[in-house]
Amino acid sequence: MAAALASESRERLATLLSLNSEGIYTCVHCGLCLPACPTYRQLGNENDSPRGRVYLMRAVIEGRLDPRGAFTEHIDLCLGCRACETVCPSGVPYGEMLEAARAEVAASGTAPLAQRMTRIVLKHLFTKPALLGFMMAMARVLRDSGLPQMAIESRLVAGRLRLGLALLIASGSSAKLGKPLRPAKSDAEIPGTKVALLHGCVMEGLFSEVNRATERVLRKNGCEVLEATGEVCCGALHAHAGDLETAKQLARRNIDAFEQAGVERIIVNAAGCGAAMKEYQRLLAGDPAYAVRAAEFSRRVRDVSEFLVEKELKPMTNSLNLRVAYDAPCHLIHAQRIVSAPLDLVRQAPGVEIAPLKGSEMCCGGAGVYNLQHPQLASEILAEKINNIAASGVDIVLTGNPGCHMQIGAGLLLRGLAVEVAHPIEILDAAYRGAQEDA
Ligand code: SF4
Ligand code: SF4
Repeated sequence: MAAALASESRERLATLLSLNSEGIYTCVHCGLCLPACPTYRQLGNENDSPRGRVYLMRAVIEGRLDPRGAFTEHIDLCLGCRACETVCPSGVPYGEMLEAARAEVAASGTAPLAQRMTRIVLKHLFTKPALLGFMMAMARVLRDSGLPQMAIESRLVAGRLRLGLALLIASGSSAKLGKPLRPAKSDAEIPGTKVALLHGCVMEGLFSEVNRATERVLRKNGCEVLEATGEVCCGALHAHAGDLETAKQLARRNIDAFEQAGVERIIVNAAGCGAAMKEYQRLLAGDPAYAVRAAEFSRRVRDVSEFLVEKELKPMTNSLNLRVAYDAPCHLIHAQRIVSAPLDLVRQAPGVEIAPLKGSEMCCGGAGVYNLQHPQLASEILAEKINNIAASGVDIVLTGNPGCHMQIGAGLLLRGLAVEVAHPIEILDAAYRGAQEDA
């Protein structure tokens, strides 16, 4: 029975991974990716490096390795940060290969319990907007009640619960940037570039103020912001967890919704969602009804920083008197290769000093729900980043992804540091506030 399962798993893995065999055989084993890999840096095990994982995938395809056991473990420990892709001279498409490997681990039924539980929650909660909206509303009530803060300060909770509460608290809005005083005349809909913002499940659920700030800044800069009725979760977490079928279903629903909206650009302010939506083209390449539409959809997707940096921004007049640092989300810098756009925008805000941040291109350990699945390793990876932030002496760390926002925010909170986390677009929104009052 076990032998039959192993054989079946190996065949399935070979089926999906063989679609990426060109990429797998592109690896020349140079090892340049090793120093960029957070799990290798932390664990020092070749099997937990990109080169080692590519080698394991190749061994499974060639029938030299049983896909259960050690293979599953090393694939599971990967953050999916794709730092290896950025430094790889051979262009190994590691992200695609990882998704295929995880899909096969899932299909083989040998995935660790935490992975299986995650997939069940993602499949049955994140595909139902009304239910997810209700759960997010409950989470906001808990967050804003002050109880999580009390529980952490009084040390009543420990382990994953303490971390989970710290992550929830960290999704709260920045006090240092304040709130808009009143709706500005410039917020009114005006004819301009037609865009729609992906509201996102976690972004709208826990970071709705970032979404509103994004819409204000877009409108301020000549965009007509339309709604894509029927939009759903982007499916990034599903794809990363190896549930490619659910990711495809969500992608099709989003393509339908945004096509109906009739917009020129689909704006995304969450790096992980943007990376996933730019990859709908690949995800649905084999779907006769959606392949062409997915390619057109992906062509229209822009991270908000990538979109705005190409525009001549309307002047910002509210001087903020802040020292900030920027931490690059992996799915912005590595998956989308957007490096300087957020900084180029923030630099235009008056009264903002940008401090360098050592290791800003390294993963924070958040990686979707990796921090809850592997809390020990994730917190060790995060510790270096928190040390670097503490050394930078900034008021606010900027990052454009909800997972990174919460992970870094939780790390700062649990370390007792008074540094806040905000989205780069919130700096622009705050810097426009003076102009809005005058408008
Ligand atoms: S850098 Fe690229 S080619 Fe070199 S070992 Fe890593 S994955 Fe292989
Ligand atoms: S995705 Fe990140 S954690 Fe995974 S092998 Fe590449 S660099 Fe390492």
